[in-house]
Amino acid sequence: MNTKEEIQRRRTFAIISHPDAGKTTMTEKLLYFGGAIRDAGTVKGKKTGKFATSDWMEIEKQRGISVTSSVMQFDYRSNRINILDTPGHQDFSEDTYRTLMAVDSAVMIVDAAKGIEAQTLKLFKVCRMRGIPIFTFINKLDRQGKEPLELMEEIEEVLEIDSYAMNWPIGMGKEFLGIYDRYNNRIEQFRTDEQDRFLEVDQEGELVNAHPMKETSYYKQAMEDIQLLAEAGNDFDEERVRRGELTPVFFGSALTNFGVQTFLETYLDFAPKPQARLTNDGEVVEPDSTDFAGFVFKIQANMNPAHRDRIAFVRIVSGEFTRGMNVTLARTGKSFKVSSSTQFLADDRETVDSAVAGDIIGLYDVGNYQIGDTVVGGKKAFEFEKLPQFTPELFMKVTAKNVMKSKHFHKGILQLVQEGAIQYYKTLHTEDVILGAVGQLQFEVFEHRMKNEYNVEVRMEPIGSKVARWIENEEEVKESMTGPRSMLVRDRFDRYVFLFENDFAMRWFQDKYEHLKLYNLL
Ligand code: GDP
Repeated sequence: MNTKEEIQRRRTFAIISHPDAGKTTMTEKLLYFGGAIRDAGTVKGKKTGKFATSDWMEIEKQRGISVTSSVMQFDYRSNRINILDTPGHQDFSEDTYRTLMAVDSAVMIVDAAKGIEAQTLKLFKVCRMRGIPIFTFINKLDRQGKEPLELMEEIEEVLEIDSYAMNWPIGMGKEFLGIYDRYNNRIEQFRTDEQDRFLEVDQEGELVNAHPMKETSYYKQAMEDIQLLAEAGNDFDEERVRRGELTPVFFGSALTNFGVQTFLETYLDFAPKPQARLTNDGEVVEPDSTDFAGFVFKIQANMNPAHRDRIAFVRIVSGEFTRGMNVTLARTGKSFKVSSSTQFLADDRETVDSAVAGDIIGLYDVGNYQIGDTVVGGKKAFEFEKLPQFTPELFMKVTAKNVMKSKHFHKGILQLVQEGAIQYYKTLHTEDVILGAVGQLQFEVFEHRMKNEYNVEVRMEPIGSKVARWIENEEEVKESMTGPRSMLVRDRFDRYVFLFENDFAMRWFQDKYEHLKLYNLL
């Protein structure tokens, strides 16, 4: 297969969900179908006490969670699939958001009993902002949940996206009989022998042959619902799916492995292949343009505590990467030969010899890379569009416990900030350091790394601010506007930022200083 054909068969996506909706279970089933694991149930050892090699840090071990997203690759039929995992814990971080910058589509898992939860909403918004296609899997149909129509309505209202049911449940919980597959025109039976799994339906959507299911109220209800969807629901429109305006919705049960394979196959019919990206000059870089190019969306430190190495995760945007090739880091113009690289397969790291657009590779790093960096293999160095910066919601004042360590303290902070681990702010005159994060875990990782990599113990104090706003017309800012509920600081690019105690304080401030144009990042 040539490079172009290899690229065409790539599908790269992230699974997003609220913790406990079933992301791990779903991932395991997908890997299982792809033959990447022999035994569904081996991806994450949190419940068995076994830890995958990707669980690299003490914090992870203590908490039994995966701090950073990992990458899994497997083949299914003619496709090569890359799944980027996103931390499903409440303590997620900017990495979670940035992972969404490296995929071409997203699969959202929703718990049928809970509907859309806050965490899902945030991740979903990032997908919407990027306009990437979102496929929805409503999980746990083997348990009693909300009414399917209610769930569809919730998706549309809460997420402000149109939906199209690709299939429809017949019954639920103890009375879950199966799903009516609108896309493949068949009924898939729950808990049945393999040869009875699919039942034929006619033009009107009715079961062709006599079947006990036909007499149940669940079947009748499903038929009515489908009629309603056909008349009053959205039409399926592939273009709108691709633009992220319409989400195809699937029902199923990951745990019992029901509807997962059908989901995977249907998803692959519509999931986008690797997409082009823009450079910061607005030029389009097509996946099959000849030269290798990619960008760093995540840097993971200390995977091997004995070596303190880091790995820069690169999404390949175009061309092919081969081990030993010369690449240029566009920001610095420095060229070097990449002799060691890794890819991530299920819970095993292996060395990669070649990879193409759509794939994710890990480059060993000794501190050269920053989040958002572009690496190119060709002669022409260019940079991809900047990755967005996210508005933090948690802030801490940080100091070194030992003032004698101030040099190491500043060096460590500078590096970790550049790496994208945490956001940096400073107060105006006293130049106190304030760190911002989207998740509490980022602070813990920061503290841990300062101690282990820079030998500095830090003291962290919450400052009570939760809302950050930048100012469009900075010339109007006066230092007298600062107060206990509206702290004025500068970010690492020297822009003014107000840190407000809460939304109320922000609105009060905005009313008082109407002429200030406040804005937030994503
Ligand atoms: P994650 O936190 O999103 O990765 O969720 P997990 O995959 O770890 O699942 C959370 C819990 O829900 C586990 O106890 C699973 O066994 C359970 N679970 C996942 N899928 C299903 C399902 O389809 N039906 C039922 N009844 N339970 C499920």
